[in-house]
This record gives sequence, C-alpha cells and structure tokens, in this order.
Amino acid sequence: MILCRTIAELKNELYSIKHSNDQATIGLVPTMGFLHEGHASLMRQSVAENIASVLSIFVNPMQFGPNEDFERYPRDEARDLAIAKENGIDIVFMPEVKEMYPSKPRTSVMISQLTERLCGASRPGHFDGVGLVVSKLFHLVQPDRAYFGMKDAQQLAVIQQMTDDLNIPVEIVPCPIVREPDGLALSSRNVYLSAEQRQQAVVLSQSLALAKQMVEEKGITPEELIARVKAKISEAGQAEIDYVEWLTYPSLELPAWNEPIADHSEKYILALAVKFGSTRLIDNALFVPNTRGE
Ligand code: AMP
Repeated sequence: MILCRTIAELKNELYSIKHSNDQATIGLVPTMGFLHEGHASLMRQSVAENIASVLSIFVNPMQFGPNEDFERYPRDEARDLAIAKENGIDIVFMPEVKEMYPSKPRTSVMISQLTERLCGASRPGHFDGVGLVVSKLFHLVQPDRAYFGMKDAQQLAVIQQMTDDLNIPVEIVPCPIVREPDGLALSSRNVYLSAEQRQQAVVLSQSLALAKQMVEEKGITPEELIARVKAKISEAGQAEIDYVEWLTYPSLELPAWNEPIADHSEKYILALAVKFGSTRLIDNALFVPNTRGE
C-alpha cells in the first residue's frame, strides 16, 4: 500500500498502475477518515470489483459550517492506515488542506433541488462543499467506480445527480448501511457520545424498524407516520430532533401527505437527523410500500 500526501505523488502512482496495465480499473472510496467497519465495507467492495483501489482521507473544511465540528472532527492517521492496508487498499490519498485548496476556490458546484431539504436545509452550504471536493477527487483519481454509503443517502443522490449532469465517466456504487449489533449505524461521530447518549442513540434504528411495521398498516399516511416516529424518538430523554422526513427517493420530493402510504409503489426514504447534546446523528431506511402494485 502506498501513501500519497500530494497530488503529484497520487498522479505518479496512478500513472504506474495504468502504464503496467492499461485495462486496470480504478475504484475510489472517498472518506473523512477515523475509519470504521462502514468504511471498511466500501473498501472491500472496491477491492473486489477493481484492479486497484484508492482510499481518500480528507476532512474537507468546505463542507463544514462555521459552528460545526471541523476542528474537533476525530482523526487517527496510524489506525486509518492499518485499516486501509488490512482491507486491501492500494493507494491512500491523504492530502493537507492547502494541497486540495492552495487558494480559495472561486468555482462552486451547486446541485439544486436535491439539496433543499434534509441535511441541505440543516447545514447550509454543506452539499456545495461535498460537490466541490468529490468533483475534485473524481478529476484527480479518474476512477471507473466510486463507492458511497447509503448511510448518507442524500449525499449519494446528490453525487449521482452531479455525475449525470456533468457526464463524469464514473459509476457511482451505493453500499448498504453497516450497523452495530444493537442497530446504531456506524459513524465516526459516535465517539462523541457519552455512555448514556450512546444507549439512547439506538432509538434512531428502533424508530426506523417501527416505521417498517407501520408502513404495512393499511391507511397510514406520511403525516401520521412522521408523528409516530417523532414520538418514538422523543422517548429518548436526550434526543433533540433536527428532522424526520418521508420523501421520494432519490428525487427527494414531498409525497402526497394525506394519502395512505400503502397505496403507492414508488421508492421512499424515511430520513432522520437527531442531536444528542452537540452530536448530530443521521440514519435512514428505504421503503417501497406497495410492491404488489395493488
Ligand atoms: P465519512 O467518512 O463519514 O465522510 O464517510 C465516508 C463514506 O463512508 C461515505 O460514503 C459514507 O456514506 C460511508 N459510510 C459512513 N458510515 C457508514 C456506515 N455505517 N455504513 C456504510 N457506509 C458508511
């Protein structure tokens, strides 16, 4: 495994891979590091499907708001490199901020509509930062495939849209959410939780499971579903709801609010963002209510 801290080193390594095998396919796994089993599952899928795999580790300041956790975002370089190696990564690209942004960028990558709700509404400018850094990484690595987790379902929809709109020649590969045994979705931010908050945080996945049962109920509307999911989350004393939304996926539009969910056969997302103290966690599940097409 090779560690590249500069764009020049990255380009050299990619050149030698392509030079020794011009059919070599490249997989890219973009991350912000502090790696866990969710990231590892993306890496393994990339390694299984490509001749060479690049893991990028970059805490991108452009996607953090002024009062967010950029400075204190957890970092552990040595551990990340060990995990990358164990999972068969060929190149780790770990640039400094000034390598990626030698000066303030004057180009913005703004993906409209899909970014109006959910995290786009709660974190203004977040997806502009994501769009910019992911398009830079796509240009630098020129991967055949890029791997993204469904944990960040809105991000996945936004990146797919950007890739289609700009004809970027990369296949976006969605990967399933990896969870702790009790259901909590793995996240680098889980380390911020106190022991009590960690116990309470299981309410996110529990409320998604509850929603799965409710969607089967004849007659339940999005309005009722959301009210019941909010009530369930509020049972956790320290939970402060940022959003609970039921939208079409991947178009992220509001559904018919007062019509029974079970009458529809589109794909929907139930997306949650909940704060425990200063730690904001997200989770989601996809639903296709009426698969029988009744
Ligand atoms: P991050 O380092 O949080 O920016 O995440 C990097 C990539 O890993 C993104 O595509 C995430 O969606 C994905 N990811 C993070 N957590 C999980 C998880 N629990 N399961 C699957 N993928 C994940």
